[in-house]
Amino acid sequence: MPPSQCAPPSNGSSAPCSSPDRGEVDGRPLRVAVLGSTGSIGRSTLDVVAASHGRFEPWLLAAHRSVAPLVEQAHRFRPAWIVVVDEAAAAQLGAASLPAGTRLAVGPDALDELIQDSAVDRVVSAIAGAAGLRSTWTAVAAGKGVALANKETLVMAGPLVMQLARQTGAIILPVDSEHSAIHQALLAGSGDEVARIVLTASGGPFRTRSREALAAATPEEALRHPTWSMGPKITVDSATMMNKALELVEARWLFDMPADRLAVMVHPQSIVHSLVEFVDGSVIAQLSPPDMRLPIQYALTYPARTAGPARRLDFTQPLTLEFEPPDLERFPAVRLGHEAAARGGTAGAVLNAANEEAVGGFLAGRLRFTDIAEVCARVLDEHPFETEPTLDEIHRLDAWARQEVAKWAVA
Ligand code: MG
Repeated sequence: MPPSQCAPPSNGSSAPCSSPDRGEVDGRPLRVAVLGSTGSIGRSTLDVVAASHGRFEPWLLAAHRSVAPLVEQAHRFRPAWIVVVDEAAAAQLGAASLPAGTRLAVGPDALDELIQDSAVDRVVSAIAGAAGLRSTWTAVAAGKGVALANKETLVMAGPLVMQLARQTGAIILPVDSEHSAIHQALLAGSGDEVARIVLTASGGPFRTRSREALAAATPEEALRHPTWSMGPKITVDSATMMNKALELVEARWLFDMPADRLAVMVHPQSIVHSLVEFVDGSVIAQLSPPDMRLPIQYALTYPARTAGPARRLDFTQPLTLEFEPPDLERFPAVRLGHEAAARGGTAGAVLNAANEEAVGGFLAGRLRFTDIAEVCARVLDEHPFETEPTLDEIHRLDAWARQEVAKWAVA
Protein backbone atom coordinates (compact mmCIF):
# COMPACT_ATOMS: atom_id res chain seq x y z
CA MET A 1 0.00 0.00 0.00
CA PRO A 2 1.35 3.41 -0.88
CA PRO A 3 1.56 6.04 1.82
CA SER A 4 -0.82 8.42 2.95
CA GLN A 5 -1.84 11.13 0.56
CA CYS A 6 -5.54 10.46 0.69
CA ALA A 7 -7.20 12.70 3.20
CA PRO A 8 -7.48 16.42 2.59
CA PRO A 9 -5.86 18.59 5.25
CA SER A 10 -8.87 19.00 7.51
CA ASN A 11 -10.29 15.53 7.23
CA GLY A 12 -8.36 14.60 10.34
CA SER A 13 -7.27 11.31 8.83
CA SER A 14 -3.89 10.36 7.47
CA ALA A 15 -4.97 6.94 6.32
CA PRO A 16 -3.33 5.10 3.46
CA CYS A 17 -5.15 5.05 0.17
CA SER A 18 -5.67 1.98 -1.93
CA SER A 19 -6.12 3.72 -5.27
CA PRO A 20 -3.20 6.02 -5.98
CA ASP A 21 -3.28 5.47 -9.70
CA ARG A 22 -6.74 6.03 -11.12
CA GLY A 23 -8.33 3.04 -9.51
CA GLU A 24 -5.92 0.18 -10.02
CA VAL A 25 -4.14 -1.56 -7.17
CA ASP A 26 -0.79 -3.08 -8.19
CA GLY A 27 -1.95 -3.11 -11.81
CA ARG A 28 -5.20 -4.98 -11.14
CA PRO A 29 -8.67 -3.42 -11.00
CA LEU A 30 -9.86 -1.86 -7.76
CA ARG A 31 -12.37 -4.31 -6.28
CA VAL A 32 -15.50 -2.57 -5.19
CA ALA A 33 -18.34 -3.69 -2.92
CA VAL A 34 -21.53 -1.79 -3.76
CA LEU A 35 -23.96 -1.83 -0.84
CA GLY A 36 -27.37 -0.75 -2.05
CA SER A 37 -26.58 -1.45 -5.69
CA THR A 38 -30.19 -1.31 -6.90
CA GLY A 39 -30.89 2.15 -5.46
CA SER A 40 -30.25 5.48 -7.14
CA ILE A 41 -26.61 5.85 -5.94
CA GLY A 42 -25.92 2.15 -6.51
CA ARG A 43 -27.06 2.33 -10.14
CA SER A 44 -25.01 5.48 -10.72
CA THR A 45 -22.02 3.69 -9.20
CA LEU A 46 -22.43 0.87 -11.71
CA ASP A 47 -22.57 3.48 -14.52
CA VAL A 48 -19.18 4.71 -13.33
CA VAL A 49 -17.88 1.13 -13.14
CA ALA A 50 -19.18 0.37 -16.65
CA ALA A 51 -17.44 3.46 -18.03
CA SER A 52 -14.16 2.82 -16.20
CA HIS A 53 -12.51 0.63 -18.88
CA GLY A 54 -11.91 -2.10 -16.33
CA ARG A 55 -10.32 0.06 -13.65
CA PHE A 56 -13.04 -1.01 -11.22
CA GLU A 57 -14.29 -4.51 -10.65
CA PRO A 58 -17.65 -4.86 -8.91
CA TRP A 59 -16.73 -7.73 -6.57
CA LEU A 60 -19.89 -7.63 -4.48
CA LEU A 61 -23.37 -6.20 -5.12
CA ALA A 62 -25.82 -6.05 -2.23
CA ALA A 63 -29.49 -5.12 -2.08
CA HIS A 64 -32.05 -5.23 0.66
CA ARG A 65 -34.91 -6.92 -1.16
CA SER A 66 -34.88 -5.79 -4.81
CA VAL A 67 -34.05 -9.27 -6.02
CA ALA A 68 -35.00 -8.98 -9.70
CA PRO A 69 -32.91 -5.86 -10.44
CA LEU A 70 -30.03 -7.35 -8.43
CA VAL A 71 -30.04 -10.50 -10.57
CA GLU A 72 -30.08 -8.34 -13.69
CA GLN A 73 -27.04 -6.46 -12.40
CA ALA A 74 -25.33 -9.77 -11.63
CA HIS A 75 -25.73 -10.85 -15.26
CA ARG A 76 -24.40 -7.57 -16.54
CA PHE A 77 -21.45 -7.11 -14.14
CA ARG A 78 -20.61 -10.69 -13.08
CA PRO A 79 -19.63 -9.93 -9.47
CA ALA A 80 -18.08 -12.67 -7.32
CA TRP A 81 -20.95 -12.23 -4.85
CA ILE A 82 -24.43 -10.87 -4.62
CA VAL A 83 -26.00 -10.41 -1.21
CA VAL A 84 -29.72 -10.18 -0.50
CA VAL A 85 -30.08 -8.78 3.00
CA ASP A 86 -33.74 -9.63 3.48
CA GLU A 87 -34.09 -13.39 3.94
CA ALA A 88 -37.72 -13.61 2.82
CA ALA A 89 -36.88 -11.78 -0.41
CA ALA A 90 -33.92 -14.10 -1.03
CA ALA A 91 -36.25 -17.10 -0.92
CA GLN A 92 -37.69 -16.01 -4.30
CA LEU A 93 -34.32 -16.52 -5.88
CA GLY A 94 -33.28 -19.84 -7.39
CA ALA A 95 -29.56 -20.62 -7.72
CA ALA A 96 -30.16 -21.23 -11.41
CA SER A 97 -30.96 -17.58 -11.97
CA LEU A 98 -27.39 -16.46 -11.27
CA PRO A 99 -24.61 -16.29 -13.85
CA ALA A 100 -21.69 -18.71 -13.57
CA GLY A 101 -19.06 -17.41 -11.19
CA THR A 102 -21.49 -15.38 -9.07
CA ARG A 103 -22.43 -16.70 -5.65
CA LEU A 104 -25.35 -15.73 -3.45
CA ALA A 105 -25.16 -14.85 0.23
CA VAL A 106 -28.17 -13.99 2.39
CA GLY A 107 -28.68 -11.85 5.47
CA PRO A 108 -26.90 -9.02 7.29
CA ASP A 109 -24.31 -11.28 8.96
CA ALA A 110 -23.21 -12.69 5.62
CA LEU A 111 -22.92 -9.17 4.26
CA ASP A 112 -20.76 -8.11 7.21
CA GLU A 113 -18.47 -11.07 6.67
CA LEU A 114 -18.01 -10.40 2.95
CA ILE A 115 -17.34 -6.68 3.49
CA GLN A 116 -14.34 -7.68 5.61
CA ASP A 117 -12.97 -10.01 2.94
CA SER A 118 -9.42 -9.13 1.92
CA ALA A 119 -10.60 -9.07 -1.71
CA VAL A 120 -12.53 -5.85 -1.08
CA ASP A 121 -10.56 -2.65 -1.71
CA ARG A 122 -13.30 -0.06 -1.47
CA VAL A 123 -16.85 -0.14 -0.16
CA VAL A 124 -19.55 2.07 -1.65
CA SER A 125 -21.96 2.57 1.24
CA ALA A 126 -25.27 3.43 -0.42
CA ILE A 127 -27.83 1.62 1.69
CA ALA A 128 -30.50 4.21 2.43
CA GLY A 129 -31.31 5.49 5.89
CA ALA A 130 -30.34 4.38 9.38
CA ALA A 131 -30.07 0.80 8.09
CA GLY A 132 -26.82 1.78 6.35
CA LEU A 133 -24.95 2.39 9.59
CA ARG A 134 -24.26 -1.26 10.38
CA SER A 135 -22.48 -2.18 7.16
CA THR A 136 -20.62 1.13 7.02
CA TRP A 137 -19.40 0.51 10.55
CA THR A 138 -18.20 -2.94 9.49
CA ALA A 139 -16.30 -1.47 6.54
CA VAL A 140 -14.66 1.24 8.65
CA ALA A 141 -13.78 -1.29 11.37
CA ALA A 142 -12.12 -3.44 8.70
CA GLY A 143 -10.03 -0.46 7.58
CA LYS A 144 -11.52 -0.36 4.10
CA GLY A 145 -11.69 2.68 1.88
CA VAL A 146 -15.30 3.79 2.17
CA ALA A 147 -17.11 5.86 -0.44
CA LEU A 148 -19.83 7.11 1.85
CA ALA A 149 -23.22 7.92 0.34
CA ASN A 150 -25.10 6.99 3.50
CA LYS A 151 -25.06 10.30 5.37
CA GLU A 152 -26.96 8.77 8.29
CA THR A 153 -23.77 7.01 9.36
CA LEU A 154 -22.17 10.32 10.28
CA VAL A 155 -25.37 12.04 11.36
CA MET A 156 -26.11 9.28 13.86
CA ALA A 157 -22.66 8.33 15.04
CA GLY A 158 -20.18 10.85 13.57
CA PRO A 159 -17.71 11.04 16.48
CA LEU A 160 -17.66 7.24 16.95
CA VAL A 161 -17.25 6.53 13.23
CA MET A 162 -14.47 9.09 12.75
CA GLN A 163 -12.66 7.80 15.83
CA LEU A 164 -12.94 4.24 14.53
CA ALA A 165 -11.57 5.38 11.16
CA ARG A 166 -8.56 6.95 12.87
CA GLN A 167 -7.93 3.69 14.72
CA THR A 168 -8.22 1.38 11.73
CA GLY A 169 -6.78 3.69 9.08
CA ALA A 170 -10.01 3.51 7.07
CA ILE A 171 -10.42 6.48 4.79
CA ILE A 172 -13.89 7.92 4.38
CA LEU A 173 -14.55 9.69 1.10
CA PRO A 174 -17.88 11.49 0.84
CA VAL A 175 -20.23 10.73 -2.03
CA ASP A 176 -22.75 13.37 -0.99
CA SER A 177 -22.24 16.03 -3.68
CA GLU A 178 -21.85 18.89 -1.18
CA HIS A 179 -19.29 17.06 0.91
CA SER A 180 -17.44 15.90 -2.18
CA ALA A 181 -17.24 19.56 -3.24
CA ILE A 182 -15.98 20.55 0.21
CA HIS A 183 -13.42 17.72 0.16
CA GLN A 184 -12.16 19.07 -3.16
CA ALA A 185 -12.19 22.73 -2.10
CA LEU A 186 -10.34 21.97 1.15
CA LEU A 187 -7.34 20.92 -0.91
CA ALA A 188 -6.74 24.62 -1.61
CA GLY A 189 -5.41 25.27 1.89
CA SER A 190 -4.55 23.72 5.23
CA GLY A 191 -7.05 22.91 7.96
CA ASP A 192 -6.23 25.90 10.14
CA GLU A 193 -6.65 28.24 7.17
CA VAL A 194 -10.35 27.37 6.78
CA ALA A 195 -12.71 30.10 8.00
CA ARG A 196 -16.03 28.62 7.00
CA ILE A 197 -17.74 25.93 5.01
CA VAL A 198 -20.83 26.89 3.02
CA LEU A 199 -23.13 24.09 1.89
CA THR A 200 -25.33 24.89 -1.06
CA ALA A 201 -28.94 23.74 -1.27
CA SER A 202 -31.19 23.65 -4.33
CA GLY A 203 -34.09 24.82 -2.19
CA GLY A 204 -36.18 21.95 -3.56
CA PRO A 205 -39.58 22.16 -5.27
CA PHE A 206 -41.06 24.52 -2.66
CA ARG A 207 -38.34 27.17 -2.65
CA THR A 208 -40.76 29.96 -3.51
CA ARG A 209 -43.90 28.68 -1.73
CA SER A 210 -45.56 30.60 1.07
CA ARG A 211 -45.65 29.12 4.56
CA GLU A 212 -49.44 28.67 4.25
CA ALA A 213 -49.17 26.84 0.96
CA LEU A 214 -46.45 24.58 2.38
CA ALA A 215 -48.90 23.13 4.91
CA ALA A 216 -51.03 21.87 2.02
CA ALA A 217 -48.15 20.38 0.01
CA THR A 218 -48.86 16.83 -1.19
CA PRO A 219 -46.40 13.92 -1.42
CA GLU A 220 -46.73 14.04 -5.19
CA GLU A 221 -45.60 17.68 -5.27
CA ALA A 222 -42.80 17.07 -2.79
CA LEU A 223 -41.45 14.25 -4.95
CA ARG A 224 -41.02 16.51 -7.98
CA HIS A 225 -37.45 17.77 -7.52
CA PRO A 226 -36.33 20.57 -9.88
CA THR A 227 -32.67 19.57 -10.38
CA TRP A 228 -31.78 16.18 -8.86
CA SER A 229 -33.30 12.77 -9.53
CA MET A 230 -33.10 10.77 -6.29
CA GLY A 231 -34.99 8.27 -4.13
CA PRO A 232 -38.32 9.33 -2.51
CA LYS A 233 -37.07 9.81 1.06
CA ILE A 234 -34.19 12.11 0.18
CA THR A 235 -36.42 13.99 -2.29
CA VAL A 236 -38.87 14.83 0.49
CA ASP A 237 -35.87 15.77 2.67
CA SER A 238 -34.83 18.16 -0.05
CA ALA A 239 -38.32 19.73 -0.12
CA THR A 240 -38.29 20.30 3.67
CA MET A 241 -34.57 21.18 3.54
CA MET A 242 -34.06 18.53 6.22
CA ASN A 243 -31.53 17.09 3.80
CA LYS A 244 -29.41 20.21 4.39
CA ALA A 245 -29.91 19.85 8.14
CA LEU A 246 -28.54 16.30 8.02
CA GLU A 247 -25.70 17.46 5.76
CA LEU A 248 -24.71 20.14 8.29
CA VAL A 249 -24.31 17.41 10.91
CA GLU A 250 -22.48 15.20 8.41
CA ALA A 251 -20.03 18.05 7.62
CA ARG A 252 -19.57 18.80 11.31
CA TRP A 253 -18.02 15.36 11.88
CA LEU A 254 -16.51 14.54 8.51
CA PHE A 255 -14.47 17.74 8.38
CA ASP A 256 -14.19 18.27 12.14
CA MET A 257 -15.65 21.75 11.70
CA PRO A 258 -17.41 23.52 14.60
CA ALA A 259 -21.09 24.16 13.91
CA ASP A 260 -20.73 27.96 14.01
CA ARG A 261 -18.41 27.77 11.03
CA LEU A 262 -20.94 25.91 8.88
CA ALA A 263 -23.42 27.84 6.76
CA VAL A 264 -26.09 27.14 4.13
CA MET A 265 -26.86 29.10 0.94
CA VAL A 266 -29.73 28.32 -1.38
CA HIS A 267 -28.50 27.96 -4.96
CA PRO A 268 -31.35 26.87 -7.23
CA GLN A 269 -29.20 25.81 -10.20
CA SER A 270 -27.34 23.08 -8.26
CA ILE A 271 -24.13 23.82 -10.17
CA VAL A 272 -21.98 25.06 -7.28
CA HIS A 273 -22.00 22.06 -4.96
CA SER A 274 -20.49 23.85 -1.95
CA LEU A 275 -17.85 26.40 -1.01
CA VAL A 276 -14.98 26.77 1.42
CA GLU A 277 -13.97 30.20 2.66
CA PHE A 278 -10.39 30.58 3.81
CA VAL A 279 -9.08 33.05 6.43
CA ASP A 280 -7.88 35.50 3.78
CA GLY A 281 -11.42 35.80 2.38
CA SER A 282 -10.87 33.62 -0.70
CA VAL A 283 -13.78 31.31 -1.43
CA ILE A 284 -13.09 28.09 -3.35
CA ALA A 285 -16.05 26.33 -4.95
CA GLN A 286 -16.57 23.15 -6.95
CA LEU A 287 -18.86 23.36 -10.00
CA SER A 288 -20.41 20.73 -12.24
CA PRO A 289 -23.89 19.85 -13.51
CA PRO A 290 -26.00 17.95 -10.97
CA ASP A 291 -24.91 14.38 -11.69
CA MET A 292 -24.06 11.99 -8.86
CA ARG A 293 -21.73 10.00 -11.08
CA LEU A 294 -19.05 12.66 -10.56
CA PRO A 295 -18.85 12.56 -6.73
CA ILE A 296 -19.12 8.76 -6.86
CA GLN A 297 -16.23 8.55 -9.30
CA TYR A 298 -14.19 11.06 -7.27
CA ALA A 299 -14.64 8.87 -4.20
CA LEU A 300 -13.45 5.83 -6.18
CA THR A 301 -10.47 7.38 -7.98
CA TYR A 302 -9.25 9.86 -5.35
CA PRO A 303 -6.54 11.14 -5.20
CA ALA A 304 -6.43 10.74 -9.00
CA ARG A 305 -8.96 12.09 -11.50
CA THR A 306 -10.04 10.29 -14.65
CA ALA A 307 -12.40 10.96 -17.55
CA GLY A 308 -15.84 9.57 -16.77
CA PRO A 309 -19.52 9.49 -17.72
CA ALA A 310 -20.66 12.57 -15.73
CA ARG A 311 -22.21 15.46 -17.63
CA ARG A 312 -20.12 18.60 -18.15
CA LEU A 313 -20.76 22.32 -18.00
CA ASP A 314 -21.21 23.95 -21.39
CA PHE A 315 -19.31 27.24 -21.37
CA THR A 316 -20.54 28.16 -24.86
CA GLN A 317 -23.93 28.90 -23.28
CA PRO A 318 -24.88 31.65 -20.81
CA LEU A 319 -24.65 30.45 -17.24
CA THR A 320 -26.51 32.14 -14.40
CA LEU A 321 -25.74 31.26 -10.81
CA GLU A 322 -27.94 32.60 -8.02
CA PHE A 323 -27.46 32.42 -4.26
CA GLU A 324 -29.73 33.45 -1.41
CA PRO A 325 -29.77 32.71 2.31
CA PRO A 326 -32.35 30.10 3.37
CA ASP A 327 -35.65 31.33 4.81
CA LEU A 328 -35.61 29.74 8.26
CA GLU A 329 -39.27 30.61 8.86
CA ARG A 330 -40.46 28.56 5.91
CA PHE A 331 -37.71 25.94 6.26
CA PRO A 332 -37.22 25.51 10.02
CA ALA A 333 -35.46 22.18 9.40
CA VAL A 334 -32.25 24.10 8.59
CA ARG A 335 -32.27 25.52 12.10
CA LEU A 336 -32.62 21.99 13.50
CA GLY A 337 -29.53 20.98 11.55
CA HIS A 338 -27.51 23.81 13.07
CA GLU A 339 -28.81 22.84 16.49
CA ALA A 340 -27.95 19.15 16.07
CA ALA A 341 -24.49 19.98 14.72
CA ALA A 342 -23.84 22.30 17.66
CA ARG A 343 -25.14 19.93 20.34
CA GLY A 344 -23.54 16.76 18.99
CA GLY A 345 -24.04 13.71 21.20
CA THR A 346 -27.37 12.04 20.55
CA ALA A 347 -28.96 15.02 18.75
CA GLY A 348 -28.08 13.90 15.20
CA ALA A 349 -29.35 10.35 15.71
CA VAL A 350 -32.64 11.56 17.18
CA LEU A 351 -33.19 14.16 14.46
CA ASN A 352 -32.47 11.58 11.79
CA ALA A 353 -34.75 8.90 13.23
CA ALA A 354 -37.59 11.33 13.90
CA ASN A 355 -37.30 12.63 10.36
CA GLU A 356 -37.26 9.16 8.74
CA GLU A 357 -40.43 8.26 10.59
CA ALA A 358 -42.07 11.63 9.89
CA VAL A 359 -41.31 11.43 6.16
CA GLY A 360 -42.89 7.96 6.16
CA GLY A 361 -45.94 9.47 7.88
CA PHE A 362 -46.12 12.27 5.31
CA LEU A 363 -45.80 9.90 2.33
CA ALA A 364 -48.54 7.71 3.85
CA GLY A 365 -50.81 10.73 4.28
CA ARG A 366 -50.74 10.72 8.10
CA LEU A 367 -48.75 13.94 8.53
CA ARG A 368 -48.84 17.30 6.80
CA PHE A 369 -45.71 18.53 5.08
CA THR A 370 -45.09 21.19 7.73
CA ASP A 371 -45.58 18.63 10.52
CA ILE A 372 -42.30 16.98 9.54
CA ALA A 373 -40.03 19.71 10.91
CA GLU A 374 -42.39 20.44 13.77
CA VAL A 375 -42.49 16.88 15.07
CA CYS A 376 -38.71 16.60 14.65
CA ALA A 377 -38.18 19.77 16.71
CA ARG A 378 -40.45 18.46 19.43
CA VAL A 379 -38.76 15.04 19.64
CA LEU A 380 -35.30 16.63 19.54
CA ASP A 381 -36.25 18.94 22.41
CA GLU A 382 -37.72 16.21 24.55
CA HIS A 383 -35.18 13.44 24.09
CA PRO A 384 -32.90 12.39 26.94
CA PHE A 385 -29.75 14.02 25.56
CA GLU A 386 -26.37 12.43 26.08
CA THR A 387 -23.04 13.97 25.17
CA GLU A 388 -21.01 10.83 24.45
CA PRO A 389 -23.40 8.00 23.62
CA THR A 390 -22.32 4.48 22.77
CA LEU A 391 -23.54 2.82 19.58
CA ASP A 392 -26.11 0.88 21.66
CA GLU A 393 -27.46 4.06 23.20
CA ILE A 394 -27.70 5.61 19.75
CA HIS A 395 -29.74 2.65 18.50
CA ARG A 396 -31.99 2.79 21.54
CA LEU A 397 -32.70 6.48 21.05
CA ASP A 398 -33.23 5.91 17.33
CA ALA A 399 -36.02 3.45 18.19
CA TRP A 400 -37.41 5.76 20.88
CA ALA A 401 -37.58 8.73 18.50
CA ARG A 402 -39.47 6.67 15.89
CA GLN A 403 -42.04 5.60 18.48
CA GLU A 404 -42.55 9.19 19.58
CA VAL A 405 -43.20 10.27 16.00
CA ALA A 406 -45.51 7.32 15.36
CA LYS A 407 -47.64 8.41 18.33
CA TRP A 408 -47.90 11.88 16.85
CA ALA A 409 -48.90 10.43 13.52
CA VAL A 410 -51.90 8.48 14.84
CA ALA A 411 -53.07 11.27 17.19
MG1 MG B 1 -26.33 16.22 -0.82
